[in-house]
Amino acid sequence: MGCLQGKNKNKNKNKPKAGRFRCTKCGAVAKKKKHLCKPKTIRKD
Ligand SMILES: [Zn+2]
Repeated sequence: MGCLQGKNKNKNKNKPKAGRFRCTKCGAVAKKKKHLCKPKTIRKD
């Protein structure tokens, strides 16, 4: 439950960009790994 998804419900969400992290569990995107419960680095494609 460490994700920022719940906290930031209606706030500006981070866009998934290379170098950021996406939670594989709930889909939240954050700049900091520790904000997510299952962080996975987003890679540029
Ligand atoms: Zn999560």
